[in-house]
Amino acid sequence: MSDKIQAVRGMHDILPDQTPLWRKVEAILVDCLENYGYREIRLPIVEKTELFKRSIGEVTDIVEKEMYTFEDRNGESLTLRPEGTAGCVRACLEHGLLHNQVQRLWYQGPMFRHERPQKGRYRQFYQVGVEAYGMPGPDIDAELILLNWRWWKRLGILDKLELQLNSLGTIEERQQYRGELVAYFSTYEEVLDEDSRRRLHTNPLRILDSKNPEMQSLIAGAPSLLDYLGEASRAHFQTLTSFLDDMGIAYTLNSRLVRGLDYYCLTVFEWVTSELGAQGTVCAGGRYDGLVSQLNGKPTPAVGFALGLERLIALLEDSPLATAQIPHCYMIRVGATAERQGLLLAEQLRDELPGLRLTVHCGGGSFKSQFKKADKSGARYALILGEDEAAQKQVGFKPLREEGEQQTVSWEQLVEIIRRQIFH
Ligand code: ATP
Ligand code: MG
Repeated sequence: MSDKIQAVRGMHDILPDQTPLWRKVEAILVDCLENYGYREIRLPIVEKTELFKRSIGEVTDIVEKEMYTFEDRNGESLTLRPEGTAGCVRACLEHGLLHNQVQRLWYQGPMFRHERPQKGRYRQFYQVGVEAYGMPGPDIDAELILLNWRWWKRLGILDKLELQLNSLGTIEERQQYRGELVAYFSTYEEVLDEDSRRRLHTNPLRILDSKNPEMQSLIAGAPSLLDYLGEASRAHFQTLTSFLDDMGIAYTLNSRLVRGLDYYCLTVFEWVTSELGAQGTVCAGGRYDGLVSQLNGKPTPAVGFALGLERLIALLEDSPLATAQIPHCYMIRVGATAERQGLLLAEQLRDELPGLRLTVHCGGGSFKSQFKKADKSGARYALILGEDEAAQKQVGFKPLREEGEQQTVSWEQLVEIIRRQIFH
């Protein structure tokens, strides 16, 4: 038996070889968010359990079986956030951000769900979430989809993603549809799987969302929610699709798209890929006009989505963005004077060449062993300080990846050489 402590199941480390891709992707995402006028909000990872029960819904997968809930030392029930929308609404209400104003907000960070871990499904995973408040029309729904679209274009993965759209109508329309759906599935009750049979009376729309292959043909025959929409809901949806048509954004209507959370109404959408197996939904969201009042705020139109970063990153593994972080230069120092001068020189280089990635060898060793480390680091150039160079305040400059002799130069010359070679 090993007594090494391992990470909690389903909670993964993002290692230094992967973080450069994560950071580049995050920078592009944030860049586009700013292009569209979205502002960042930072929210706690822990909220009162009641917040999620009241917003996400008691009979959803998340609340029924996926939450990390615990009592703190005062006996209060707290939960690691399974998603960001509830906390975002809570914060906006708490700070009066919704009254008579519109908000375009985004956040990012870890979410926690106790699911069965598999590729693309973890117990701690990262989302970028976007929420827009105070705008009731389909134009803001379209804006969110356009923002997604720009993301995929900037990341070079537009051809890997398909947009699926549906409308869930109003609560009343859904209620009526729900009745039809229960009637339909009840006639097949004996062939429903266990989950679906349970949902038949608690949350029948979720049956449509079932991932069980044996349920698919039954689901395909179910009545379609789009047929139960009233005039206003229909108009909202049609205007949205006409905006998308104008912009040349392709979409598929998917009347089975219901989303896992109770608070959605009208527009719902998902960006899905066929490249990630069963975990194909990369980004998903919709309108949730009822949630703010459900949390005791004034009725406020709201629409948002969340992007799953692990799934997005998985799509980008072969992308040119997925390059490791490699130092430009690796400094080798041998001898006490060289070690002291090297630190001075390194700081001077960092002052004069912002953006320079310079690793200074620490821990001593011979020229030979330090050169080996330099080579292993992947650096393009070695900067060499031995006793001779140090005595004359010079430094050796040696290309490690390309042809070229080592040259010995002054510190000033070195700055110019690096500037020319790396930052031309
Ligand atoms: P799924 O149907 O895959 O369970 P969901 O409907 O539960 O997804 P949302 O709550 O809408 O997902 O979350 C938005 C996005 O967050 C998902 O589309 C996905 O990319 C990501 N996501 C959700 N759950 C997980 C998880 N357990 N591990 C990794 N990513 C996740
Ligand atoms: Mg889920």
